[in-house]
Amino acid sequence: MPVIPSVRSRPLTFAPRLRGRIEKHAGMTPPPTHFIPLLDALPRRKTPLLERFAALLEPKTPAQLEAMARESRAVTRRHFGRTMRLFAPLYLSNECVNNCRYCGFSRDNPILRTTLTIEQVVREARHLVTQGFRNVLLVAGEHPRFVSEGYLEECIRAIRDFVPAVGIEVGPMEAPEYERMTRAGAEGLIVYQETYDRAVYADMHTAGPKKDFDWRLACPERGYLGGFRRIGIGALFGLSDWRLEALRLAAHLEHLYKHCWKAVFTVAFPRLRPAAGDFHALTAFPDHALLQTLCAFRLSFPEAGIVMSTRESAVFRDAVAPLGVTLMSAGSHTEPGGYTGAGSDDLHLTVKGRRVELEEKAAQARAEGQFGIADSRPPAEVAARLQALGLDPVWKDWDPAILAA
Ligand code: SF4
Repeated sequence: MPVIPSVRSRPLTFAPRLRGRIEKHAGMTPPPTHFIPLLDALPRRKTPLLERFAALLEPKTPAQLEAMARESRAVTRRHFGRTMRLFAPLYLSNECVNNCRYCGFSRDNPILRTTLTIEQVVREARHLVTQGFRNVLLVAGEHPRFVSEGYLEECIRAIRDFVPAVGIEVGPMEAPEYERMTRAGAEGLIVYQETYDRAVYADMHTAGPKKDFDWRLACPERGYLGGFRRIGIGALFGLSDWRLEALRLAAHLEHLYKHCWKAVFTVAFPRLRPAAGDFHALTAFPDHALLQTLCAFRLSFPEAGIVMSTRESAVFRDAVAPLGVTLMSAGSHTEPGGYTGAGSDDLHLTVKGRRVELEEKAAQARAEGQFGIADSRPPAEVAARLQALGLDPVWKDWDPAILAA
């Protein structure tokens, strides 16, 4: 993206305002779901921060968007330097009790499924470590029988000695169960609301416990009570009007900053990708809208991490990397065993919650992925490209020893 040197930089940073609020609320524990009335009052009633955020989302000319991108880049430099944290998802299981219309793991999709053993999880994690990763996100569908809390705890304990930053993106839990995960060694929690539009949410989630919108909405606060220091929220763009979705996501982030002040937060704006079930986006979220959303978040929440996954193409990721993104996945696989082939000896179907053996299996058969990725470059190539763009890829930025000390 070109830079316009004649335009003076005027970063729209609201950090002091937020910091003041955070100090005011120091020592508070988060209320269970106080965000619900705030969400339901949008877009009618907005805080001053959200008023300014909404203004940033109004239609822009190309020149205005470029000015936003330039400010966003400057604000990012000020708060994050040139760093870009790299992480990799490690899929544990593609079993799920929910039907989410946009997801390949939906329970009614007749896909090949598997759940990794602890030894296989260790093998996958060691493979990621050899590629450089020290930040691994354990991902699984929601299925208490295959992916129990005890199993997740074991997975975390099995890799925590050689993976310093372990995050989880799994089915929602109560705060005491989240505490079990943090005691086992997890420090990051990712839970996306998918859509903040209640009507669309009801239409998308047709079966399973995920139908409960409010229960999911309160997840980040329960995770905070459970001891997570790093919490990621986001929405799946392409299900609802992107400006309203972004505004509601921003409101959620502002709420969490006020009430969960000890945690650090990340936001993500994933776009739909091809997946089993062949679901297609309901609304448009073109590149320029994604860029504008990214910049609006950076200018309004200067200290929030912004994630850009391999759902986006290499070209797009390279273009926006310097403009506000602070976390990237690389070389990702979205199927369990994707890095080493682990689990392919245990493929089966799951019908009405029951395992069904395959009558015959192709030699190269693999478990189904959650969605297809768009940037398939190996991690080393992504890191080299970031360096060529003037950024510093960071493989490790956390160690549990920091807290132990
Ligand atoms: S989005 Fe999550 S809960 Fe929904 S089907 Fe996929 S894995 Fe299951």
